[in-house]
Formats: sequence, structure tokens, C-alpha cells
Amino acid sequence: MTDRIVAPESMEEDIDQGLRPRRLAQFIGQTAVKANVAVFIEAARSRGEALDHVLLAGPPGLGKTTLAQILAAELGVGFRMTSGPIVARAGDLAALLTNLQPRDVLFIDEIHRLQPAVEEILYPAMEDFKLDLMIGEGPAARSVRIDLPPFTLVGATTRTGLLTTPLRDRFGIVLRLDFYSVPELVEIVVRGARLLGLELTAEGAHEIARRARGTPRVATRLLRRVRDFATVRGASAVDRALADEALTRLEVDHLGLDALDRRYLRAIARNYGGGPVGIDTVAAALSEQRDTLEETVEPFLLQQGLLQRTPRGRMLTRLAFEHLGLIPPPVLGQPGLFDEGSG
Ligand code: ADP
Repeated sequence: MTDRIVAPESMEEDIDQGLRPRRLAQFIGQTAVKANVAVFIEAARSRGEALDHVLLAGPPGLGKTTLAQILAAELGVGFRMTSGPIVARAGDLAALLTNLQPRDVLFIDEIHRLQPAVEEILYPAMEDFKLDLMIGEGPAARSVRIDLPPFTLVGATTRTGLLTTPLRDRFGIVLRLDFYSVPELVEIVVRGARLLGLELTAEGAHEIARRARGTPRVATRLLRRVRDFATVRGASAVDRALADEALTRLEVDHLGLDALDRRYLRAIARNYGGGPVGIDTVAAALSEQRDTLEETVEPFLLQQGLLQRTPRGRMLTRLAFEHLGLIPPPVLGQPGLFDEGSG
């Protein structure tokens, strides 16, 4: 677990769930996903059937858990939640499955981290609503088949490519969540301020939104920290200057990059001339986990056009050098330019 204020993963201070949208109409952004979801819900409701299994993919903090809860609420069914690493044994999953009511939503976060033995239980459960259990051990062992109520599995993963093919193929609906635009984050911040009873000017909201790295979880966290800052200052309202001061103190820069992002970019710029360099090398140089970099640092840098993934490794763009206030080496730039030069 990290203590970055821009960490997209959940932290303890986020547990105050008052800000989580409960219904589809309150869920801001992801217009295409929302439109599809509305149709699927309507169809499942009118047929009185369980909704097809849904796979939600996208970086942490974009609203996968929220959307899963909304699905259950809109369908008017129960919601159970677990996560890949928590379900350690096949029996744990069997217990969850046999306790479901008809049409319930079972949400499995980080579904790509299920143990293979547990995952295998899921295949017949998803396909035929059957549970195959082994009872006893050795020569006396026998397998029994139990009927399950029809249910909807909602799985969440950061990338669909992390799932095994048999698991991925069993989802009828795959929804990809993308980073949010600044206007969408403004809406989220304004809604959050209203719920927190915080006076926030339009410029103040914009300042927080544009520094939230496209992620609602980060936006609401920055909002809370700015509120703390305003309270200590005795400020009656948060305007642009106050938001800027608070976020600068927290080392969140104008693009929403924090110290780790800048350390990552600087390491590639200074030690490897801007790249290309392998991810394991960068991880070792920074003493960080490769997974942390791949899941919580790189997606946003890629999306912002600061970083490129090439077959030969990670490479900074000109924009990254400019952002760091460094001069890019002459051969750096678009991959096309680079390849022509070395061609
Ligand atoms: P994930 O499961 O993808 O990591 P969550 O669903 O837990 O993300 O969302 C993180 C937080 O961000 C939630 O607590 C919620 O308050 C907020 N959030 C996410 N999506 C939205 C949205 N579309 N509109 C408003 N708030 C959102």
C-alpha cells in the first residue's frame, strides 16, 4: 500500500462513503458505458432474468466498484463483494456462491488474482449455474454437483489482458472505463463539495479537477485535503488560489503528477537519456515494485503523452522533458523520427 495522495488505489481515509454515487443517474462521465448499462439493465429487468456476467476493466479509482453496486441497485437485487486475493480456497468461493439469492450480483474485485483452483470452480458456476465440489480425499473422494441460483458475476480488473482466456470468454458484457475529462471531474468535485457542505468557487473546482489525474477517487481525496487546509486557514470558501496553495504544498503539480511520477520521469531522463529503457530497470533504479509503476504510475503518464511504450522499452516524450524543465536530447521525439534517424 502506498501513501501517495494521488494514489488511485483506495486508502483508509476514502472509506467515508458518503460521496459514492448510488444510482446510475448520479454516476458522472463514462457516457458510452452508462448508455450501454442502462440498456442491459432494462432488458434484464423486463425479462426478469439475471443480468449477463459483466467484466469491468480500467485503472484503479475510476468507479468499477461503484458501477457494480449501481448495477445491483438498479436491478433491485442483492450485492455481495469480495476480491481475488481474499478468496484463497475453492471452498471460500463455494460458500459465497451457495449463499446467493436468485439474480444477486457477486462482485469480485481484482478477479485476475484468483488462484487457478478457485478460478476453475467459477467456470461451471458462470456457464451453467452449477457448482462441482470434491468431497473427501484419496480413493474415497467423489464429486458432487450442486445447483446454484442464477446470478450475475461482476468482475473488475485493471486490464482484460491479465485474465486467462477461459475466464474472459465467460463474460457476456465487457465494459472499459477510461480516465475522466476535466469537465467531468469538475462535476464530481462540485457534487462532492455540496455533499461535504464546502463552499467552492468554479475556479477552485477546476483547479482541483485538473490536478486529479483523470481519477474520481483522487479528485474526492484532493477535495478533502483542500477542505482540511481551508478549515485550518479559517477560509470561508475555496477559490483557485487556496486550492493551488494546498495542492502545491501536497506536492501535486499542475498536471496532477506527484513526487513519485516526477521521480520516475526524472530517472528515465537523467539516467537513460529519455529511454528506451526496460521497466524492470526503472523499477530497480527507483526501488519500487514493477506492478506499482505499471498500474498506478504509467497509465496516466501514457495517457498524458509524457511516456511511450515501445518494443525496446519505456521512452519519454518531448513533453515530459519540457514538464521537468530539462532539455530533450536531439534524437528524442516521435518514434517515427527516431526510427528514421537510426534506420
Ligand atoms: P475502482 O473500483 O475502479 O477502484 P471505485 O468505484 O471504488 O473505483 O471509485 C472510487 C471513488 O471515486 C468512489 O468512492 C466514488 O466516490 C468516486 N467515483 C467513482 N466514479 C465516480 C463517478 N462516475 N462519479 C462520481 N464519483 C465517482
